[in-house]
Amino acid sequence: MERATQQQDDPRPHFVLVPWQGGISHIIPMTDIGRLLASHGAAVTIITTPANAPLVQSRVDDDDDLVTTPPEGAITVTAIPFPAAEAGLPPDDGCERLDLLRSPADVPRFFAANRHFGEAVASYCRAGEAMPRRPSCVVAGMCHTWALGMARELAVPCYIFHGFGAFALLCIEYLYKHRPHEAADDDDGLVVNIPALPAPFDDCCRLSRAQLPPHFAPSTAVGGGAMQEIREFDVAVDGVVVNTFDELEHGSCELLAAATGKAVVAVGPVSLCRRRSPDLDPQAMADDDARRVMEWLDAKETTRSVVYVSFGSAGCMPPAQVRQLGMALASCPWHVVWVVKGADAMPGDVKKWLSESFDSDKCLVVRGWAPQVAILAHRTVGGFLTHCGWGSTLEAIAAGVPMATWPLFAEQFLNERLIVDVLGVGVSVGVTRPTENVLSAGKLNGGGADVEAEVGMEQVMKALERLMDEGDEGEQRRKKAQELKAKANGALEKGGSSYMNLEKLIQCAS
Ligand code: UDP
Repeated sequence: MERATQQQDDPRPHFVLVPWQGGISHIIPMTDIGRLLASHGAAVTIITTPANAPLVQSRVDDDDDLVTTPPEGAITVTAIPFPAAEAGLPPDDGCERLDLLRSPADVPRFFAANRHFGEAVASYCRAGEAMPRRPSCVVAGMCHTWALGMARELAVPCYIFHGFGAFALLCIEYLYKHRPHEAADDDDGLVVNIPALPAPFDDCCRLSRAQLPPHFAPSTAVGGGAMQEIREFDVAVDGVVVNTFDELEHGSCELLAAATGKAVVAVGPVSLCRRRSPDLDPQAMADDDARRVMEWLDAKETTRSVVYVSFGSAGCMPPAQVRQLGMALASCPWHVVWVVKGADAMPGDVKKWLSESFDSDKCLVVRGWAPQVAILAHRTVGGFLTHCGWGSTLEAIAAGVPMATWPLFAEQFLNERLIVDVLGVGVSVGVTRPTENVLSAGKLNGGGADVEAEVGMEQVMKALERLMDEGDEGEQRRKKAQELKAKANGALEKGGSSYMNLEKLIQCAS
């Protein structure tokens, strides 16, 4: 009763956002989407787990030099306990994100806990007294399959947020519908053509079966049943919210809408909702570390003289690969900021080598959480060696920084094709097969030593030389990157494509 009265008094639509706690890279953009919706006049509740709530709250509260300023109190962050122990996960072990699990054996337990989490979220949204305003729209992270039932019960639209770009989603849709990979009998051969885009790009996406996203792998840690459930959720939702902008992916948003019959709403690049983001993970890094990186960059005089190297929020290579990469970075002629995840879990000799050889004027190693958006926007950064995670890809595009592409897993090989062949803002390192994440596979701390390096030092050097090339080829890439940067910024300005899409999304929920 009280809730009904409040709702009458408040005409704003109310979005309930539930980021998938697969990793920080899902939580960051959904929080930014919350900020954008709120700055367009919606009321927003972001529901997450207690361990992830401080990260969400810090991004909601961060009003340092924001482009978009949501009205006071427009965003509520709600923490609902994650029943990890009930599902057999180690209690008090921070098992509230997939990337924090100790072993792949815990993945099915994490999904079981997430189902119970969904029941708790649904009963919270149902209960009038608990939630100040009735939801008008649910936006759920990609694995929150329970969200559809909740939205149907509340009689509101349900949108999904995958964290992928539209081109990758379009390719995945193509693979589900046409299943060309089922004819592939050789994991490494170039056998799968994915003509998701029309000519002249219909021939650019040829991947080996091993390079396809895990949806199409013969088996996954998640399990076939859960993958099927995720696909059914994907098919049943009312629409897809994508962190991209209409002008970027050569019509992928429209093509995806046509292929799925759903609303595809491009609202990005969401990282541009703040001009200067400290991007701090409160659990991993103190302000001092972010300041250290920025001071190191500030001390460099030459513009575009630094290569930024990062493999996302959790990408961790086997020690032998870390060595090959490190040798290339140490001997290349550019300054380097290198983010190394799992450094503390590396074998002793690699750890020693990392600390003795790198923290210098030439190369700075960041062992924790780097302020990536701020680094990419720095005048001295001229190239980004990236794993092609979609968040990183779009942040580089928004900053106008060309990329050298080194996909590790997931949909990253698809993103590589977009960056290199469709957009022309990247050079490929030439990785042919996925890299096992030794950290999440529980193989560090004594293991992982048996995994060989696929990419040698020379191969890395060649890619960096092309990336930082001062000649025509490099100049063309930089020009294209600058053009996309201008379009990215325009998309979120008043009247821009993403700005208008946010308005439409709010209208649909009103
Ligand atoms: N990120 C960051 N600092 C780090 C590592 C990652 O700020 O040290 C952020 C990055 O800016 C991006 C996200 O984490 O927003 C990584 O997302 P992406 O989709 O690129 O990769 P994933 O982590 O999913 O592999």
